[in-house]
Amino acid sequence: MIGFGFDIHRLAEGESLVLGGVTVHSSVGTVAHSDGDVILHALVDALLGAVGMGDIGEHFPDTDPRWRGVSSSVFVAEAMRIVTQAGYKVVNIDATLVLERPKILPYKDDMRTAIATMCGLARERVSIKATTSEAVGAIGRGEAVQAWVACEVQPV
Ligand code: MG
Repeated sequence: MIGFGFDIHRLAEGESLVLGGVTVHSSVGTVAHSDGDVILHALVDALLGAVGMGDIGEHFPDTDPRWRGVSSSVFVAEAMRIVTQAGYKVVNIDATLVLERPKILPYKDDMRTAIATMCGLARERVSIKATTSEAVGAIGRGEAVQAWVACEVQPV
């Protein structure tokens, strides 16, 4: 079965930028209740979507003080628990990040390793792709960052 997730966060000065479980050196970071990791948030929605178990907002409402400033790896761990409990395993994950700057290439390997570790997958089963918005729109002006994630799960 296929799961798909999307997320977007605004960018602002004085915030940290964590993407795919990796801290990225940047003058701007995501405005968020948690650590604002758009890749992991989209991944959580993909995992939950694959097994028809709702979305990240249902499981981790941003009104809940427990999730303030928390690492989004906590959300992934819970989503993985839900997938496992539903009787499925993750086969592969394919993520696309849309961000104007900084360049993500130096961080991609670490993101793959981080996500592979969180989801109990071989690195080769995790794909991280990055693109810019070609200076078009809010993403292109560096006002936000977006992520799209697909995954496949199979019955255990
Ligand atoms: Mg989010």
